[in-house]
Amino acid sequence: MTMLRVAHVAPDTEAEGPGRRFAVWFQGCPLRCPGCCNPEMLPFEGGRGVEVDDLVNQLARESVEGISLLGGEPFAHAPGAAEFAARARALGLSVMVYSGYTLAELRADSSPGVGELLALTDILVDGPYDRSRPDSRRRWVGSENQVVHFFTDRYSPGDECWKRPNTLELRLVDGTLSVNGFPAPAAVGFWRKPA
Ligand code: SF4
Repeated sequence: MTMLRVAHVAPDTEAEGPGRRFAVWFQGCPLRCPGCCNPEMLPFEGGRGVEVDDLVNQLARESVEGISLLGGEPFAHAPGAAEFAARARALGLSVMVYSGYTLAELRADSSPGVGELLALTDILVDGPYDRSRPDSRRRWVGSENQVVHFFTDRYSPGDECWKRPNTLELRLVDGTLSVNGFPAPAAVGFWRKPA
């Protein structure tokens, strides 16, 4: 029985990678990027404990093409995240991971599960979020320093989905409103406080 410390799950989202995806935000990140967009997910306490089996059962009920792992920092939860990714792969699904670590840092990291999770990843968006360099050009990428790595031929940077505007989703479930994704630049003016 493997428990994951999870902050949030969006079971069917188009705002966190190509196609429809089952997105999991982990609770806990050791990094401290100034301007972090998910500060409530930094402490390793909180969130909820979820068994991998239960998450896989939930995933299997969805009509999605892949999972997206976000945070928090997925690689700070690598053993459980890798187990979940392997189970998703076994269902024929793709794996996308957002990490605050660079690929070079991850490849040098011998902590349990890190290499396994990397080996199961189709797309990695790497590097710390840099609020001084917001990226309005690339879809699903927070800042210009971050690199999108395509590790398998399942996706490619030429895919049409990368050229569309960003997506912001609002979800109301049991009276709780959640927001995920990135707003299209053209939409920012609707909610940003005027200068
Ligand atoms: S890696 Fe992500 S969650 Fe962690 S501090 Fe940076 S932006 Fe926040």
